[in-house]
Amino acid sequence: MALVNLKTLLDLAEEGGYAIPAFNVYNMETVMGVAQAAEELQAPVIFQVYSRLFDGPNAAFLSALIRHAAAQLSVPVAFHLDHGASQVQVTRALTYGCTGIMIDASMLPLEENIAATEAAVRICGHVGVPVEGELGHVGSVNDEKMAIFTDIEEAAIFCRKTGVAALAIMVGTAHGRYRQAPQLDLQRIAAIRQATGIPLVLHGGSGVPDEQIQGAITAGIRKINFGTDLCYAFLKRVLRTNQDVVAIDIFMHGPTEEVKAFAMEKIKLTGGRR
Ligand SMILES: [Zn+2]
Repeated sequence: MALVNLKTLLDLAEEGGYAIPAFNVYNMETVMGVAQAAEELQAPVIFQVYSRLFDGPNAAFLSALIRHAAAQLSVPVAFHLDHGASQVQVTRALTYGCTGIMIDASMLPLEENIAATEAAVRICGHVGVPVEGELGHVGSVNDEKMAIFTDIEEAAIFCRKTGVAALAIMVGTAHGRYRQAPQLDLQRIAAIRQATGIPLVLHGGSGVPDEQIQGAITAGIRKINFGTDLCYAFLKRVLRTNQDVVAIDIFMHGPTEEVKAFAMEKIKLTGGRR
């Protein structure tokens, strides 16, 4: 198998009634850990790269690693731009071979969010790349107040007007490490799913209790982002690794294994293993 587009993966998840885990990767070791987990469990995954990395040289290097990993795998995977915020990022992502694009204009008023997202859908459509939009801003765990949850009717309008292939919604999660477990609005997920008819995306999956992840999938979530905890898994092991080891490949063996173990746990949780 090789790289497939985001919609192809989401269709598989829809058929199978599961969610595709989307892992944020930053370097060769995180790519390798996620790839090994996908292969071992024979499960589709999404490699995603945060938008900031497209502002400098990182994403160009990283994309070559992801495309290489995808070519070696016997399961279908996608390469996704996470939280795309500018035309520069979107253009670079398409050039570097992304097969899914997220455009995040969720901080803008509804009409402006629709206009920005629709423009991205049009551009990406020229090269057959599906787009994930966001409606109802998923904030940070450090925000003073919990953001407003996604409105059901607005979600239906948003999807109809923009033509997105997937929609990220605000239903109680946040980015970062939770101080206390979040409480997801599962009924709202089901209602948005019913109103829009498209696969829904849960951001801030790190730290959400397992039973709520499973409830969210039952309600219609088809892509779940795991960013924060993958970073912690990698970095915790880096900090625990014997500092006398100077050969970087040997030093990185443990952190890579840690990422693989984390990804395997989330693949099992989200139900995509064959
Ligand atoms: Zn996010």
